[in-house]
Amino acid sequence: MSPFQTPIEYLKGMGLSRADVLKKELQIATFEDLLRHFPYKYIDRTRFYKIREIEPELPHVQVIARLTHKELLGEKHTKRLIFQAQDDTGVMELAWFQGIRWVEKALIPGKAYIIFGKPTFFNGKVQMAHPEIEPYSAEVLQRKGNLTLQPAYSSTEKLKPFSLDSKGIQKLVATLLEQYAKDIHENLPLYIINRFKLVSRVEAYRNIHFPEDAAALNEARHRLKFEELFLLQLKLLKTKLHRTNKFKGNIFGTVGNYFNEFYHHKLPFELTNSQKKVLKEIRQDTQRGVQMNRLLQGDVGSGKTVVALMSMLIAIDNGFQTCIMAPTEILANQHYQTIKSLVGDDFVEVALLTGSTKPKARKILHERLESGDLKILIGTHALIEDKVQYKNLGLVVIDEQHRFGVEQRARLWRKNSIPPHILVMTATPIPRTLAMTLYGDLDISIIDELPAGRKPIETHHLYENQRLRMFGFMKQEIAKGRQIYVVYPLIQESEKLDLKNLEDGAAVMSHEFPAPDYNISIVHGKLKPHEKDYEMQRFIKHETQIMVATTVIEVGVNIPNASVMIIENAERFGLSQLHQLRGRVGRGAEQSYCILMSSHKLSADGRKRLSTMVKTNNGFEIAEIDLELRGPGNIEGTQQSGVLDLKIANIVTDQQLLIQIRQCVEGIFEADPQLALPENQILHHSLQSKDQGLSWDKIS
Ligand code: ADP
Ligand code: MG
Repeated sequence: MSPFQTPIEYLKGMGLSRADVLKKELQIATFEDLLRHFPYKYIDRTRFYKIREIEPELPHVQVIARLTHKELLGEKHTKRLIFQAQDDTGVMELAWFQGIRWVEKALIPGKAYIIFGKPTFFNGKVQMAHPEIEPYSAEVLQRKGNLTLQPAYSSTEKLKPFSLDSKGIQKLVATLLEQYAKDIHENLPLYIINRFKLVSRVEAYRNIHFPEDAAALNEARHRLKFEELFLLQLKLLKTKLHRTNKFKGNIFGTVGNYFNEFYHHKLPFELTNSQKKVLKEIRQDTQRGVQMNRLLQGDVGSGKTVVALMSMLIAIDNGFQTCIMAPTEILANQHYQTIKSLVGDDFVEVALLTGSTKPKARKILHERLESGDLKILIGTHALIEDKVQYKNLGLVVIDEQHRFGVEQRARLWRKNSIPPHILVMTATPIPRTLAMTLYGDLDISIIDELPAGRKPIETHHLYENQRLRMFGFMKQEIAKGRQIYVVYPLIQESEKLDLKNLEDGAAVMSHEFPAPDYNISIVHGKLKPHEKDYEMQRFIKHETQIMVATTVIEVGVNIPNASVMIIENAERFGLSQLHQLRGRVGRGAEQSYCILMSSHKLSADGRKRLSTMVKTNNGFEIAEIDLELRGPGNIEGTQQSGVLDLKIANIVTDQQLLIQIRQCVEGIFEADPQLALPENQILHHSLQSKDQGLSWDKIS
């Protein structure tokens, strides 16, 4: 066993009670955890600042200055000792609130000192409270020549009584490195280390804790980031390769009548270049004899459904059955309607299976699936219930992936000896690097253009005091025959408040848009499914002009005549959510609008989100900005993913590195799929070793 899996209490000088709090407070339970408790910053004692150079953002700084006069101010509790200090560029103030008597005796006005502390600013003047201070002399300065970047470790209040503040932790790390540095083994092949000019692993760990200088620290950081991203990609791509080898795939060898008939006689428009490209990718995947696992990303309205349908027709041409799985009944229904209208009558039978399919109809469906007669089935989770048996399911399309887990995908595979090809579609674009990490085991296709002639949605940001203008605009659009969504935020912590928010809003709307001239649908999470459905249907049938809703309408609903999306308290929504909501409009021939209502009080992030929405309609651009604003851990659908528990690398700031590494690892597997070459032996060990700090088990 590697010594780094040793429980932390066995570290020299640790002791049981200290080990205990360390575990509780910082989750440091093993030697490895301590080794990987990296400093959060470094205090630079290599350079001296001039007083004029000191700026508010600086961490601790070091100054050589002469003390001028001193003052004793306040009484009892407010008592403080102030020294003025001066160099040839300016003046600063040093303050002590404790140990005053001692300090007063020790420090001599007129003498020069080396002063070290965290600067603050008051009235434009630099201040330092309780600085470290020692007399300046040439010898002292010489001695300091070998002082370098000092590590600062995060700690907690509870740890301080146990001498486990930053300094205490530093001592432990020093002990650990002293005793066990020899056990830090290299985990990357030599040729990779050389190619990417990396420092050795042990050197990296030494320098991340106790850097020799700034350059060494940078190299250490780079090496550890590299290692983290490299091993993650190695694992992901190995999983992918393994699956490819293990699961054979149905071969869709020919393009036959179904596809051709549809393409030449039924498709009502020209495919966009993006759509053609993706179809080609799917064609290639499904002829290779291995299972396809492809993620299709494209903004709302970019035409993913047609691509899915055409892929399904190829499957049918080759004698297979297909299905589309949607996250909700409404969406399943909508896909059903869309696909039926696209293929027309007497072409290929399309059936719908959801939770509300009656037992009798269900039984017939089951039989027709088992016999293989039924070729296209559309539905919800009901599609993958164990009772449902297909004769030869060849392709499964999953819409809006993040509602279907990996486990559910796997259940589909188990239904056949050869698993069906999987096409996952999502309208939530994910930045490239995130996709590489999160869906590193899937192939990715992107539709990045909208069909020609689509009018971009116009987005406006209005403040509360412009509400009357908004009402006027709504009336004007309704008079033109349009329909309008008004969406309120949903806060998880307070459903009650949400409902109140929505009800208040609905009351205002009803007052402004009274019956019988106007009708309003109200939809929220507290409604029973049939009530919700009833309200939705009224809107779909254009019996109501306004739909007031919480975000329940977020996913997929398609009502082309609804051309205005009003988002209340827009500052409370995340960027990707705003973009998703906006995607509900802009589906018909009319000019569509999105209006973001907010209060005047906006955080910097909130302002950036709203201005981004006004500026661009491009989902990928929005996703990038979202990632920057929120960091990778908060992007929708990623929270539970261990993939993003990165310790030192950051997929936003280390994008370039990640892309390089991805290519490098792909190259390794291409040349040596089994990692059998002698120079790659080390990688087997690295994948199995527990010392890498990544939670492999969480990676699917
Ligand atoms: P998505 O599922 O990506 O949101 P859809 O497949 O529902 O998009 O397509 C949105 C609308 O655009 C549908 O009405 C569809 O028929 C239409 N559409 C799809 N592709 C094209 C195209 N190439 N040219 C014109 N209209 C298209
Ligand atoms: Mg769609």
